[in-house]
Amino acid sequence: MALRVYDTLSQRKQLFEPLVPGKVGMYVCGVTVYDRCHIGHARVYVAFDTIARYLGRMGYEVTYVRNFTDVDDKIIKRALEEGVDSRELADRYIASFHDDMAALKVAPVQREPRVTDHIDDIIGVIERIIDSGHGYVVDGEVFFDVESLEGYGQLSKRKLDEMQAGASDRVSVDERKRNPADFVLWKASKPGEPHWDSPWGQGRPGWHIECSAMAGRHLGGTFDIHGGGKDLIFPHHENEIAQSTAAHGQPPARYWLHNGFVNVKKSEEDSDQGEKMSKSLGNFFTIGDVLEHYHPEAVRLFLLTTHYRSPIVYSTENLEDATRRVEYVYETLAKMDLVLDAGPSQAAIDEVLRPDLFEETLRGFNEAMDDDFNTARAIGELSDLISFLNQLADAKDKASKKRRHATFARAREVLDELAAVLGIFDSPPREVLQGIRARKLKKISISAEEVERQIAARDEARKARDFATADAIRAKLAAEGVVLMDSAGETLWKIA
Ligand SMILES: [Zn+2]
Repeated sequence: MALRVYDTLSQRKQLFEPLVPGKVGMYVCGVTVYDRCHIGHARVYVAFDTIARYLGRMGYEVTYVRNFTDVDDKIIKRALEEGVDSRELADRYIASFHDDMAALKVAPVQREPRVTDHIDDIIGVIERIIDSGHGYVVDGEVFFDVESLEGYGQLSKRKLDEMQAGASDRVSVDERKRNPADFVLWKASKPGEPHWDSPWGQGRPGWHIECSAMAGRHLGGTFDIHGGGKDLIFPHHENEIAQSTAAHGQPPARYWLHNGFVNVKKSEEDSDQGEKMSKSLGNFFTIGDVLEHYHPEAVRLFLLTTHYRSPIVYSTENLEDATRRVEYVYETLAKMDLVLDAGPSQAAIDEVLRPDLFEETLRGFNEAMDDDFNTARAIGELSDLISFLNQLADAKDKASKKRRHATFARAREVLDELAAVLGIFDSPPREVLQGIRARKLKKISISAEEVERQIAARDEARKARDFATADAIRAKLAAEGVVLMDSAGETLWKIA
């Protein structure tokens, strides 16, 4: 297997070779904890979770670091409004972030550093930047001198004179800066704000410096993968490269990976790609709200059915489509489990049907993931296998039935392996189907208990060979939108 990843800096797909054989260090910029997370955040962390899972499956020992920005203007403002301490506010939204990630099956990362726990590291990096001649102090604040560093603008492909012109156009240019594109490393604190002592007076870190300091502390001066949303390329990651290069004499990451936005259309008829989901545009859907209506695995599938670098459109239609796909796979898994739980019958033959299909699926999946983590294609590679298994579960011929147990046992092995990478299709099927049903039931008038009662009545009628009554019950439920599926002596049901 040869993994290739698209690197934003070189603008090419590169063969992935970690700094230390067998190990991968990965840093992904985390959230600013002042509010609940939306689907745009879900996309970043589901994408990099899947990347970390695949690297783990390849045999790498992954150290994934994802920070929390827990001191910032927005946090300070919100804490003041609510009359709480900013640490308390941050704690609340860190807990909320963890709940959202757990719901979306984003695995815990190895380190979750907080800015306020790394002030000494941050001050140390700023001192090195000043000592190396790339930072300067004015009125208790420290700025990065962009002109002092060759190559500033390399990641975002911007030229310094253009940035300078752009920055000068802004309403208020800080006259203390040598170049309008210079950015702050250390801010003097205003009265009432959280602050720390530093060689330049009381204050707090600028935004960009935290990631250079925390990545350096937990992964070293240079590590393998640095990730985040495309919106972070400039200025955040551009500035991280500048800071780390100035402080350590080398760029921080070997590969820069950036995911595309989640876009929202202005109306359902809107034919274009819509605009980026963001707090500032007010067009966001929080993860919590979306999970009220859609099962987490449907949301995760929706996020992974587009390659991580491409934009994705958030719409009811796309989420309903993902729900149907998740439901279909879990119905297949539920039917397989009925056969597996019953154990092989006396007539069973220990022979796996379509071994070629299993091999093709595994090969196709790996090739897709090796091609810059193409989850969209990898998920597509599962389709033929799933539809074959679904047909086999319903097959009536003796030859198929005798080989069903052995084939499903092999299918479980293959699917469990691939599902562990995607973080989808690896939950107990009945729980997921129930979760999807519960969300759909909110929209119709019949309760789950009533459906179960009707199914029991139908079973009684069938036992008494009163098929007219049994059919009438099925028809009545169908009219309510409830679909019954008889499989291996049991009746499963779903909402159409
Ligand atoms: Zn960052």
